[in-house]
Amino acid sequence: MSSFEDRKMQGMVFNIQKYSVHDGPGIRTIVFTKGCPLRCSWCSNPESQEYGPELACNKGRCLGFDKCRYCLDVCPKDAITADAENLVHVKRNICGDCPHLCAKACPAQSLIVYGKMRSVEDILSVVEQDAVFYTRSGGGLTLSGGEPLMQHDFAMALLREAKKRRVRTAIETCGMIPWETLHDASLLIHDMLFDLKHMDSEKHELHTGMGNARILDNFTRLAGLQNDKPILVRTPVIPDFNDNEEAIRAIAKFLLPFEDRITYELLPYHRLGTQKYHFLDRIPSMGEVQLDKKLFSSLQDTAQSILGERFIRVE
Ligand code: SF4
Ligand code: SF4
Repeated sequence: MSSFEDRKMQGMVFNIQKYSVHDGPGIRTIVFTKGCPLRCSWCSNPESQEYGPELACNKGRCLGFDKCRYCLDVCPKDAITADAENLVHVKRNICGDCPHLCAKACPAQSLIVYGKMRSVEDILSVVEQDAVFYTRSGGGLTLSGGEPLMQHDFAMALLREAKKRRVRTAIETCGMIPWETLHDASLLIHDMLFDLKHMDSEKHELHTGMGNARILDNFTRLAGLQNDKPILVRTPVIPDFNDNEEAIRAIAKFLLPFEDRITYELLPYHRLGTQKYHFLDRIPSMGEVQLDKKLFSSLQDTAQSILGERFIRVE
């Protein structure tokens, strides 16, 4: 594909976040794409799971129907109504197949849309604004999601064009994608962030919707490639899923035989995405559960005792 075609390629993106220091080396700009094959019960980006754009409704910002009725007036399907407090309510069973006229009309950003088609050129123009920070810190662009390689052609076009412009790139993947796709992407990027959630396939399926066979196979192939590209493996530690010694020990032992380019990190469960479930009229399946800090620390001790300096401790 020509550079011209790459620059025009579009993908469904729901956020571009600048100045991140958590998703790859240095200071980074994270491009979040929509669409994911997994449905992790703890997902902190519920708006990333479906490929298409989604209407989000934040009642806390609604001015109330006694002051404003713009959304009601423009909706072609009568999908907007008032709730008991005279605030906006979207009838999800009727809403759909519409260019989100209500969100365009809403003056308070009570109604917004998660997801927008954006071109490679447009995205890189945002990413390149911080080129000076990348140079100083060894940072760059991280493609995240959702699962960024679900939009394979778009992801490849973005990575190719970034490489051409000498922007360092990383991908954050759940690994549940065809091997050929992962392999192609691995040739273009500088760093890989790879999630391993559980070694027990049944438990994996129960909490993510799919077993782990393809993920483990992809990881093994990736780590076996003859190159020196670093792979940071990450495990989100989730209450009642993998917050126990046996689960973390099993992952750390699985990683032990691989080359020195593998590092490992545990990420503590957090509830930052809870509000977004409510905006989408979804119920967060994790409820009020919290991760025990002492337990998290002891699980880090466990991983460190197996992987030594290849384990990166999170404070
Ligand atoms: S997205 Fe369209 S159909 Fe749905 S509530 Fe808004 S205006 Fe109505
Ligand atoms: S347009 Fe926005 S602020 Fe006005 S009633 Fe609808 S949701 Fe509320």
